[in-house]
Amino acid sequence: MIGWVLRAILFLIVLRLVFRFIASVMEGMSPASSQQKAGKKKSVPLVKDPVCGTYVVRERALTLDAGKQTQYFCSERCRDQYVQRAAPAIAPRSGARR
Ligand SMILES: [Zn+2]
Repeated sequence: MIGWVLRAILFLIVLRLVFRFIASVMEGMSPASSQQKAGKKKSVPLVKDPVCGTYVVRERALTLDAGKQTQYFCSERCRDQYVQRAAPAIAPRSGARR
């Protein structure tokens, strides 16, 4: 008799797991909904600040389009420093100075 109860419980647990699995798969398939639920602890894309070496969450980082690739910064100060360092490469031509 106890065997039946155990089987029923096991069945329910398995059913739950299956439903959860399906739900997570469905969620993963639609990128729009998964982005909205960003509060979940998934792998957060981290980017490195080239100035101070801090790792910043990409969505919160300040960006700078540095020609070939986009650079990410933790703060405006770091971005300014980077711009100053790489001034000749990035800054638009200001006058014909030689
Ligand atoms: Zn920084």
